[in-house]
Amino acid sequence: NAGLGSWPARRAAMSPGATALIFQGRRTTYAELFERTSRLAAALRTAGVRPGDRVAYLGPNHPSFAETMFATWMLGAVFVPLNFRLTPPEIDYQLRHSGAVALISAAPVEISVTIHVLIDDLEAFAGEEGRVDEPETGLDDVALILYTSGTTGHPKGAMLTHGNLVWNCYNLLVCVDVASDEVTLVSAPLFHVAALNQCLLPTFLKGGTSVIMPGWDVDGCFDAIAEHRITWMFGVSQMFAGLARSPRWPTADLTSVRSLMTGGAPVPEALIRAYQERGLAFCQGYGMTETAPGATFLEARESRAHIGSAGLPVFFAEVRVTRPDLTPADPGEPGEVLVRGPNVTPGYWNDPAATAAALTDGWFRSGDLAVVDEAGHLRIVDRTKDMYISGGENVYPAEVEAAIFEHPAVAEAAVVGVPDDRWGEVGRAFVVPVPGASLSPADVPEFLSGRLARYKIPVYVDVVEDLPRTGSNKVRKGPLRNLPLPGPA
Ligand code: AMP
Ligand code: MG
Repeated sequence: NAGLGSWPARRAAMSPGATALIFQGRRTTYAELFERTSRLAAALRTAGVRPGDRVAYLGPNHPSFAETMFATWMLGAVFVPLNFRLTPPEIDYQLRHSGAVALISAAPVEISVTIHVLIDDLEAFAGEEGRVDEPETGLDDVALILYTSGTTGHPKGAMLTHGNLVWNCYNLLVCVDVASDEVTLVSAPLFHVAALNQCLLPTFLKGGTSVIMPGWDVDGCFDAIAEHRITWMFGVSQMFAGLARSPRWPTADLTSVRSLMTGGAPVPEALIRAYQERGLAFCQGYGMTETAPGATFLEARESRAHIGSAGLPVFFAEVRVTRPDLTPADPGEPGEVLVRGPNVTPGYWNDPAATAAALTDGWFRSGDLAVVDEAGHLRIVDRTKDMYISGGENVYPAEVEAAIFEHPAVAEAAVVGVPDDRWGEVGRAFVVPVPGASLSPADVPEFLSGRLARYKIPVYVDVVEDLPRTGSNKVRKGPLRNLPLPGPA
């Protein structure tokens, strides 16, 4: 049985007394985690969950995320973690699209699934005892569906198999010496593949300890490092910048930390230097949900020599930079990044068109542009997809534009990402009012609140008479991105 549903039993046999999880002072050993997960799996089975069914989870980081996930895998079912920052209509879309039969959630939600259990009631739901006979699960079986937004406006469900998850863990272990005495801080949201598969699962595989933070906060992070002697943590660079700006930074004891990892965007040189002065260096990764996530990796000791680089392809994957006809680009010539290997998604759930567009002969088309240097290092230079990243969350302008269009006074809208000190990038919307209608910049965020997650709502809004267009009538976003910024709406 190759599936990850077997991991709690294996760990409970090998390191029963080791601490698997720490959450707000509560410790769970591997033996306890296996026992709790087994009871939950038995209850879900009794409630009707069958192999291949989708079980969704909604809520901030919490041990029940891990318990529900492993229980789902013990049943040969598919785990669907949802982004808790989404609004009810956005969540409803993902539940319906995935056909989830069950939802475990932190708060009540109006939804149509048959099994809905609140985290607070999970212990009672799980019952006193339970063991399940695990169905045979192979590496090619789907383990996860992770929704990522897309250029069309509707999110797509990227499928990751048990094999995808395992091979990414191996890729990470080749590059970073995650050890059995690791104390990993899990501070990024677990519904993202990075926190899940660069932090929690590799730590679990090795029998280390994951310290789960309910959410990101600078003081909580300093407290956790001091209290639990954290050895390893992952975050987006805004998180590490927040620590370095804190008044606690000069006096905080960081001596327990062995390595730090960032991904999602290059780390600014000033940040690399600030941490280096404390004897700390960043490993950096480039990747995406669909590659589970690691595609390239830059070792910590290379970070000063290769500022801005995304590193070399991970051990078990092929990475290519190609021209539009998919032939390899020359060194120094920008091209699209393609990834092939055992960590690459088999496609999108119930979306053959999106799958066909993304995968060619096993090569996943990232939509990112990179150049390769003579030594084979990749540098990500741009995105062909119209996406920006705000505080570590991807935002697809098409989705935001579609929501703005629903405002009756809006005739046209275009959204771009603009630089922001705090979030990396934030949205800027250009809206053209319907002739004769009145529309003020503040109307737009007000209209979007409740329809779109907060991080997707543009910070800047410009009401304009028209939008720059190409000959084929597409909005030209380049000039919009480069306009000087107004005050926030
Ligand atoms: P996601 O779909 O949330 O997994 O985000 C993946 C996207 O984040 C990639 O396709 C890139 O556009 C971006 N990204 C990830 N890592 C890096 C990096 N190291 N440098 C620049 N962009 C990155
Ligand atoms: Mg993506």
